[in-house]
Amino acid sequence: MARIPESEIERLKREVSLERLAEARGVKLKRHGADLIGLCPFHEDRSPSLVISPQKNLWNCLGACGKGGSVIDWVMRAEGISFRHAVELLKQEHLPLAAHSGTKLPQRSTVPKLPAPVSRDVDDRALLLQVTRYYHETLKKSPDALKYLQGRGLTSSEMIEHFQLGFSNRTLGYGLPQKDRTTGAELRGRLQRVGIFRESGHEHFNGSVVIPIFNREGEVVQMYGRKITRDTALREGTPLHMYLPGPHRGVWNEQALIASKEIILCEALIDALTFWCAGYRHVTASYGVNGFTDDHRAAFQKHGTKRISIAYDRDDAGEQAAEKLAEELMAMGVECFRVQFPKGMDANEFALRVMPATKSLGMLLGKAAWLGKGQRPTVTVSEPQIIEEKTAAKEEISEPTTTPESIEANTNEENDLPLAAELPIASLPTGAVVPAIDVPVEVSGETVYVSLGERRYRILGLQKNTAPGVLRVNVMATATNARGETRLHVDTLDCVRQRNAPSASEARVMKWGNERKTHA
Ligand code: ZN
Repeated sequence: MARIPESEIERLKREVSLERLAEARGVKLKRHGADLIGLCPFHEDRSPSLVISPQKNLWNCLGACGKGGSVIDWVMRAEGISFRHAVELLKQEHLPLAAHSGTKLPQRSTVPKLPAPVSRDVDDRALLLQVTRYYHETLKKSPDALKYLQGRGLTSSEMIEHFQLGFSNRTLGYGLPQKDRTTGAELRGRLQRVGIFRESGHEHFNGSVVIPIFNREGEVVQMYGRKITRDTALREGTPLHMYLPGPHRGVWNEQALIASKEIILCEALIDALTFWCAGYRHVTASYGVNGFTDDHRAAFQKHGTKRISIAYDRDDAGEQAAEKLAEELMAMGVECFRVQFPKGMDANEFALRVMPATKSLGMLLGKAAWLGKGQRPTVTVSEPQIIEEKTAAKEEISEPTTTPESIEANTNEENDLPLAAELPIASLPTGAVVPAIDVPVEVSGETVYVSLGERRYRILGLQKNTAPGVLRVNVMATATNARGETRLHVDTLDCVRQRNAPSASEARVMKWGNERKTHA
């Protein structure tokens, strides 16, 4: 992240009223000469020790805690957050009005909290899911990361949603309570244990597009990160690819193995996504050229994979690994073919150079070389011609001679990737039958009330749900029993569309939070 310019910091110190911040925290202020005094909210204060100077926009505690400073120090202290996070918070609330600089900005009564990226009251599995979700939301707001994906020809917003692609840019840490607070230290410790933070305290995947690997239960079992900066711009020796520490667990896109007996196996996730975006969705990936794991082996066996097109890079390492792997897989009874990219190329590079990718990759799949021993069929696989221009590609690339049965419709999206704000709300497929339910619904402003029998539900936050595949609402149920007593139950409900769920209605509850029951 870029440094915060000094001018920006000075502007916030000048323009955000400390008096308002204190009042928003419930501090009752009284005039005392040129100053304002009140009870300090940062220590047990009995006689007013907080002194605010509205002229200088500074505060000072003359009591036990003895703290003081600018609005930034106030927010750091009040929210238990870092300097940078405090600046981010204040910036969000007090957007610059360049044209009116100098004018007092309207001040809201409270300082908003950034949504906490992760919570303390969940187990490690849920914690990783929360990080995944945070990275995912971050990606959709990060032009640089989206641009990187675009540069790799991966422009499908469906792909981003389906595989919950994310981006790590260090902001995860800013959203956490500070290190010197118990909660902050504890959360950082746990994030370190699951590999999201390094021992140094740095975010492991910082500056990387992150691809989570889910198991069939929807848990994140691994993550792959790819730096979006050109390696020449990175410190020497910085790895471009990384995983969470620990074994390479799980099989990416395992549902493809269930859906199809025929699988394309790449050596990298970016290559696999390339096939997926080109419409070849029966695809998975090893963890690198030597990264075919026991999990892959077991999954291919379990799901009865019959045929594998090995789409490893067409370099020496890829060739050797493909050959060795084919030997093993064929001993398992799986037919193996080798997708023959031009020498030295990988799937992604090829798809970018020979467009449309659907056609060019389809052609290679159709012509993939048989790797069986003995009765090797005499198939001559000609090297595809590399065409630099998109328009030329149409004429020069011949139709695939054979097409894998499980090729799905071309869903290659040619539109630019929409930014988060433009993502449409998931809508029902046209023609879908909406079951009629006779339930009284009241809408009052942004609050929705639903009455069912003796229960009444108040739903808050529906309007904030604008990303497809995600639902986050606050639901309060009120039930009145026969004696007229009211019972309350409040939940924050978080749903994320399951990887392979065909519709939002199959969303799975990912988290029940803030659960509390009140008996009245
Ligand atoms: Zn104090």
